[in-house]
Amino acid sequence: MTCVICKQGKTAPGTTRMAVERGATVLVVRGVPAQVCDNCGEAYLSADAVDRLQEMLAVAARGGVQVEVREYMAA
Ligand SMILES: [Zn+2]
Repeated sequence: MTCVICKQGKTAPGTTRMAVERGATVLVVRGVPAQVCDNCGEAYLSADAVDRLQEMLAVAARGGVQVEVREYMAA
């Protein structure tokens, strides 16, 4: 699809790094599958990837994590 941010680039399958937070927990997740703009680098996550990030965040929050970097793991 055409990137909605720069309106010039085209997106292609790739991976990105996302930071998500809840309360006192900040989780940085690497290797998240996404459609990435070849012009500006904006990343578009699938609904599945967003759900998975929220699950990983919930687990980290329950574990009392404050700041952590993790690799994306598919459910
Ligand atoms: Zn773009």
